[in-house]
Amino acid sequence: MAFEGLADKLQDTFRHLRGKGVLTEKDIDSAMREVKLALLEADVNFKVVKKFVADVKEKAMGQDVMKSLTPAQQVVKIVKDELVNMMGGANSKLTYSPSGFTVYMMVGLQGTGKTTTCGKLANYLKQNGKKPMLCACDVYRPAAIDQLEVVGKAVNTPVFTMRESDDPVEIAKAAVEAAEHKGCNVLIVDTAGRLQIDEKLMDELKQLKKNIRPHEILLVVDALTGQDAVNIASGFDEALGVDGIVMTKMDGDSRGGAALSAKSVTGKPIKFMGTGEKYDALEPFHPDRIASRILG
Ligand code: GDP
Repeated sequence: MAFEGLADKLQDTFRHLRGKGVLTEKDIDSAMREVKLALLEADVNFKVVKKFVADVKEKAMGQDVMKSLTPAQQVVKIVKDELVNMMGGANSKLTYSPSGFTVYMMVGLQGTGKTTTCGKLANYLKQNGKKPMLCACDVYRPAAIDQLEVVGKAVNTPVFTMRESDDPVEIAKAAVEAAEHKGCNVLIVDTAGRLQIDEKLMDELKQLKKNIRPHEILLVVDALTGQDAVNIASGFDEALGVDGIVMTKMDGDSRGGAALSAKSVTGKPIKFMGTGEKYDALEPFHPDRIASRILG
């Protein structure tokens, strides 16, 4: 389960604090030191941790907290609120184009789970009454097109391919037409992935963005890569501009640092998290539920 280590440590810290009754500044200091270490061990970005601890401390030292009947409980509440803030506050929903036809462009590095996420998203949209179509725009790897076709079959969603073309813009434009013709109202464009961010990839994605004007660009990153995932998200956002993040493989990530700090570092919300290999393992990202899970 994600956040296991962090949850254990924070719950320990606060159990100890609750046992004290009246709290002194020293108690808060020592609890905050533990919180800081726990967050760093969970691989939360260092600057984000520093600000978090400073903000919590300032609020916890407030007169009404220290003088209240249940100071430890108040401190836990402050920590929870700040954790929610760190993750972006309210749940950031996927939005649909007011035109009635929505295009989502899925971007990300190879192996992060982009193609699988396309299938999960199609499945999610269908459950929400939409009619999605998938579009294969990776012109470098025929296997990627085959894979999207397998995914499409599994989630019972049509897949647009144009194997003879090596131009993603041409493919995506034709896909929009095909989708509208078929009565679909969402097109999910699976783009090429690479092992790292390079100029060629970004140029290609920028061309696609300019020409198909997606309603949202969703960046898929792998939670298991920790702060790398956050740095990659910053890189994609600076070069291309993204609207939201899908954090995959949360089921295997016991640390959780990427999910905790992505919003604070990049300014872009996590909209979904991937929680398994199956196509129904995609959940909207709710910062308050995650904070509650961490603090028990
Ligand atoms: P792509 O290269 O980015 O298109 O990545 P794929 O969609 O091919 O996924 C790479 C691997 O990650 C596959 O084995 C997927 O089953 C797996 N995967 C994707 N998302 C998740 C997830 O949320 N949890 C787990 N455990 N595995 C995932």
